[in-house]
Amino acid sequence: MKISSYHKSLGDITRLGTGGELNYISCVFSKHCRMAEYIMELYPNSVTGGPGWDHDVSLPPEINNCRPDYELYDISYGLGRLTEGCPSGCEYCVVPRTEGKAVHTVSSIVDIVNPLGNLVVLLDSNILASTDWTDHFNEIQKWGR
Ligand code: SF4
Repeated sequence: MKISSYHKSLGDITRLGTGGELNYISCVFSKHCRMAEYIMELYPNSVTGGPGWDHDVSLPPEINNCRPDYELYDISYGLGRLTEGCPSGCEYCVVPRTEGKAVHTVSSIVDIVNPLGNLVVLLDSNILASTDWTDHFNEIQKWGR
């Protein structure tokens, strides 16, 4: 959604699907890598990322700082994360490796609110392990009034 916002800011037209001048593939789980490779073979003008693809690749700041484009999914609720990271060490989980063990703030509630609705779904890995969690919850409470 942030990539879509970024391209719209450049005057581009964005949509879900493939076959455009440029395709972005988000591979959240490594079990989907083969599917991503298949799409990349069909559409060589593709950029692939996501934690399932390469833990070390992240969005550049000019894209990561964009607000999500909720029109892309036609949803009326907000979706995003206020923090990243987790200090727990569950052996099957990539979060401490990909986001770090120190929980850190990455955005505020006003950055992810959808102008079409007042429901927000938080996707934080472990917001309660953040030293900022009370600030975030107070901000959410203020925003909800
Ligand atoms: S994000 Fe959840 S599953 Fe992953 S290490 Fe933290 S507590 Fe464990």
